Parts: sequence; structure tokens; C-alpha cells
Amino acid sequence: MLSLLLAAFVAGQGQALEIIYPTEPELTAVTVQWSGHEVPFIQRGDHWLAVVGVDLDSRPGEHAVAVTFRYADGHERSHREPITVRSQKYPTTELTVEDRYVELSPEDQARANREGEETNAIYRTLTPQRYWTEGFEVPVRGATDGRNFGHRRVFNGQPRAPHSGTDLRAKTGTPIFAANRGRVVLAKDLFYSGNTVFIDHGLGLYTTYLHLSAIDVAVGDMLERGQQLGLAGATGRVTGPHLHWGVRILDARVDPFSLVQLGAP
Ligand SMILES: [Zn+2]
Repeated sequence: MLSLLLAAFVAGQGQALEIIYPTEPELTAVTVQWSGHEVPFIQRGDHWLAVVGVDLDSRPGEHAVAVTFRYADGHERSHREPITVRSQKYPTTELTVEDRYVELSPEDQARANREGEETNAIYRTLTPQRYWTEGFEVPVRGATDGRNFGHRRVFNGQPRAPHSGTDLRAKTGTPIFAANRGRVVLAKDLFYSGNTVFIDHGLGLYTTYLHLSAIDVAVGDMLERGQQLGLAGATGRVTGPHLHWGVRILDARVDPFSLVQLGAP
């Protein structure tokens, strides 16, 4: 019965979302149109699942996404899956500071723009396989919460991009571990984020680790879940040591803890 397949999918702005369907005889593939990509589902036990992200700035309310089911005999069917986006309140802080603290030199601005293009190109890449099979874990051992995901700051009346990760307390030198299995796709010093590591977990899901004092991995390395990738620090534009931990799922900026809470799929 098709009606049994229609679960109510609900996520807050800035949260990861699992879309799950039960297996059916002869069903060989499921995909969902999300953020301009055709995202494949993976089959796990008695269900098919995809992990997608609802961006911080997604419009609250009802959305519909196109899901396609393909069968062994070659036929396919599509339906519009309703997704409900709940509004999620994140704090805004207005700050007045001297302009010289918010305006970059032309050289720094050019570098920051170049690096922004480079990181956006990574986020737009959808690696067609999924590298992980277990749930995501927090990259600082013992950390159970973070701060400031979604926090909006307005400097001298100019809104900045909202804080797109969570800040975990970590002294300089604290070991930082990969949140899940995946391939290193960026490992270098960037203007804003200092020593930075990006891990591609496949199917459009990336985790990022910023402001490190040391990087222990290189682009191309395949990391296991829990493998050390570097040490926490205070590099880049920060006021003190911590780990900024980010998650992107396709173009969506999501709270890393919402991904951890999905648990093992
Ligand atoms: Zn941060």
C-alpha cells in the first residue's frame, strides 16, 4: 500500500533528515531530487534510506520533493514526498565595532574570496558512493554539546553569514578525530578558518574541522571513524582555541549534533 510508505518527514531549519522507505520486491534503486542533485538512497537491511539536510535558511512550512523508485523490470514510478520544515530560532547579536576590524585589506579579501570559491566547489561535488556505515560521533572525546550553531552576527548594521558549525571546547593540542569514515578532500591553512580539514563522507555529506594547531592527514587519505586527523588550536580569525566543527549535506548547513542524533542508520 502506497499510503503506508508515506511517512511524515519533519525537520527543523538547520537539521539533518533521514528519508526512509521499506524495501519492496524487485525495487532496485531509489533517488530523491534535493538541492538540484539526484541523491541515491542506500539499502540497509529492510529499508532504503537517504540522509539530506535542511539548510538554516530554508523556508519554514510544507515542501515537496520528487522521489523516484526503479524496479528490476525497468519500470519506475515517482511521487512527490511532503517534507515539513519547522522554524528554528537561532540568536542574533548586533555589534558595533570600528570599521577597521570588519573590513579586510584587498589582499586578504581576494584570498578569502578565492578560498570561498574553492570550498563551495567541494560542497557542490556529489561523490556517488557512501563511505560510512555507522553513526556519526563527536570529534572531541567526551564533548556532549557545542555552541553557536546558527548564531547570526550583525557588525555595524551589516549581517554576516550565520555561524555554520558548532564550536566545541578544546584546548590547543587536544586530539581531533574523524566523525565518520571518509576521504580527506582539503587539508591546509585558510584565511578565516586557519588549519582546516574537510572530509567527504560520500553522497554529498561533508564534515569540516577548523582552527587546528596541527594537521595529521593529507588530501586523498581515507580515514576511519575515530581516526585522529589533527590537534585543536586557535589558527585563523578566532579569539581563542576551540574546534569549529561543521557539517554540509549538499548545500545545506546543518547542526552537526542533529547528524549525531540520527544514530547508526
Ligand atoms: Zn565557529
